[in-house]
Amino acid sequence: MTHIQLLGTGGTIASRGSGERGSVASVSVDDFVSAAPDGVDVRARNVLTTGSYRLDLADLRAIADAVAEAAADPDVVGIVVTHGTDTMEETAFLLDLVHESPIPVVLTGAQRPADAADSDGPRNVRDAVAVAATPQLRGLGAAIVFDGVVRSARGVRKAHTIASDPFDGGTVVAHLEGEAVRVAALPVRRPPLPGPGPRFDGTRVDIVTAYPGARPDLLHAAVEAGAEAVVLAGTGTGNAGPGFVEAVADLTARGTPVVLSTRVSSGPVVPTYGNGGGVDLVAAGAIASGDLGAFQSRILAALVLSTTPGHAALRDAFGISPSRGGTA
Ligand code: ASP
Repeated sequence: MTHIQLLGTGGTIASRGSGERGSVASVSVDDFVSAAPDGVDVRARNVLTTGSYRLDLADLRAIADAVAEAAADPDVVGIVVTHGTDTMEETAFLLDLVHESPIPVVLTGAQRPADAADSDGPRNVRDAVAVAATPQLRGLGAAIVFDGVVRSARGVRKAHTIASDPFDGGTVVAHLEGEAVRVAALPVRRPPLPGPGPRFDGTRVDIVTAYPGARPDLLHAAVEAGAEAVVLAGTGTGNAGPGFVEAVADLTARGTPVVLSTRVSSGPVVPTYGNGGGVDLVAAGAIASGDLGAFQSRILAALVLSTTPGHAALRDAFGISPSRGGTA
């Protein structure tokens, strides 16, 4: 019998308790099966039960493996992953990058814990299940459903700490109107990349942020600490202060890629300025991240470098031209 696979990983949606020790993820995803819309068969499995602020790349790989396993089951027509909102944009993007099947992968969570009288978890799960079960959304890849809005994984960012819908960016794919899923647009997907293997877990990619007075030796410090690549979250369209161009040239010459992203919460990297700005950073060897923010750039860099070290594959991954419709 066809069904939706619900995979739990933790987050506020699975958290209880308050007071001195704070709210802690402890609730099984089984508790959310009853939130599904009538007539949809849901099976549940706990992959992890933890706050998403504690996840590492090995955990992200475990989630990706669980999704791939579920997607290989011909009876599964959609997958819902419950997850903390803090780093949902990273996990969602990894899942989107590697998802080969046309069945939708939908992440959701909550802003108010499971033991709050007004927890938003059950409604978000109900909406996510409805989205995952929508035949029109085959080929969607991965998306985040929150507070009645469906956004593509690519480009989505947590933009508010406590709002009922903390997310912004991505392509708005659909809205929930009561029980109905109103589809607006399917996102443009890239061909899927090979899924993460064990080497992904230890592929260290650090993020260095530009700000007034930021010191370019932070780039070298990251490499000395073991980074295989560094994402530079530049100011504005992708700029950095004195000394960064030389540091980028030095890292590039030594074989450590630098990806140039932006610390701004929306908009693409557009190398525009000289005098140490984005034009010079790219001329020094930095790889512009296009429309990807620093945190999603880091996930793409770690995934690509874990299978293909060096600059060339990374340049391809950031420059790859979109093809409509993915593998649908
Ligand atoms: N605030 C977070 C959440 O919404 C905590 C976490 O990411 O686990 O779940």
